[in-house]
Amino acid sequence: MTYPATTGEFSAAQGPDPRHERSAVIDLDAIRHNVRRLAAAASPAKVMAVVKADAYGHGAVPVARAALQAGASWLGVAHISEALALRAAGIDAPLLAWLHTTDSNFGAAVAAGVDIGCSGWELERIVAAAREQERPARVHLKIDTGLGRNGCTPEDWDRLVGEAVEYQDQGLLRVVGIFSHLAVADEPERPETDQQVAAFREAVAIAEDAGVDPEVRHLANTPATLSRPDTHFDLVRAGLGIYGLSPFDGQTSAELGLRPAMTLRTLVSQCKEVPEGQGVSYGLRYHTSGRTTLALIPLGYADGVPRVATGGPVRVAGKTYPVVGRIAMDQMVIDLGAEHAGEGLPGAEAVLFGDGADAGPTADDWARAAGTINYEIVTRISPRVPRRFINEDDTAGAGAGLAAVHGGAGAA
Ligand SMILES: *Cc1c(COP(=O)(O)O)cnc(C)c1O
Repeated sequence: MTYPATTGEFSAAQGPDPRHERSAVIDLDAIRHNVRRLAAAASPAKVMAVVKADAYGHGAVPVARAALQAGASWLGVAHISEALALRAAGIDAPLLAWLHTTDSNFGAAVAAGVDIGCSGWELERIVAAAREQERPARVHLKIDTGLGRNGCTPEDWDRLVGEAVEYQDQGLLRVVGIFSHLAVADEPERPETDQQVAAFREAVAIAEDAGVDPEVRHLANTPATLSRPDTHFDLVRAGLGIYGLSPFDGQTSAELGLRPAMTLRTLVSQCKEVPEGQGVSYGLRYHTSGRTTLALIPLGYADGVPRVATGGPVRVAGKTYPVVGRIAMDQMVIDLGAEHAGEGLPGAEAVLFGDGADAGPTADDWARAAGTINYEIVTRISPRVPRRFINEDDTAGAGAGLAAVHGGAGAA
């Protein structure tokens, strides 16, 4: 199975650019703006740009480069394989991977100078890899301060720290960081964050008493970066905010000074006039209430648009219409109403979500329609949708618009 090319220069000799038919347009200028905004909020703490899951669907390599240009000093991913892909693209910034299995390639991580998160069992694997590579591993010890996912329990922390210090004394590793992850930072009024901060401080004190001298202590995600300065320590790990999305229920991107970086758009595929009572899409869950024009939008759940998100907004020719009937694998339908004959609309741009300017539809609107969160909406846009990167060069408004497009590494 092959998807349209999303990398490299597109040559006109190959015919029409598939990225014009449908694409997730990624504004790297927005990424840089958001990194600067988060860096200002975090200062004097540094920013780790979290680019796991192909940068939440935005394209890991171009986003990582833009984030570093804008002042991020670290990169973070979940998997070692994601880290190795960034290294293979020539990115040599400090880079942490924190989610492993017994089949993770710790040797390759050590060889590539990738920092490795360690919750406990990984330590022996990491040390074996360091011996094999004849190179000290760079380790961040993770304490579970209450989230209940990975991380060492407070009960086992003493022992993990003790073993790590021993290996450090033997020159097999260096404990570069101590970290933990917050559970409810998107609800700033909840008390559990205070408890997690206290537990983190205690874990750091225990490690320092045992002889660990970490470069970076890190706890905050995007919501904590924006709402809880007491969680910043030396480094914040920001994902969602880098992409310009709000982690808070009651606050928009604009209210937080962020610019959504992804626009999901396509072209109207077909328009037709239908009579009253026309059923629409599988299950015939929608029937037109009068003579009207239907427009066919060629994106569906294979492209990552949630099937349950009937009612989600699509903007065509300056007006926003809800999706009617079921969203199918490849397509969905909007009802333009009686007043719009649909003339000239095939080939017009249809935007599902974008930066929200001029009251345009947003990923937040689609999250509401799907009963999920904006994280999931952007991250699940599938590899079938080519990514189109704009404003790759940091020239701040020097005419680097759509005309200057050439894809960076894509989502393939
Ligand atoms: C995904 C992740 C983050 C980033 O969270 P955001 O809410 O997107 O900023 C930070 N730390 C860890 C451990 C993560 O898994």
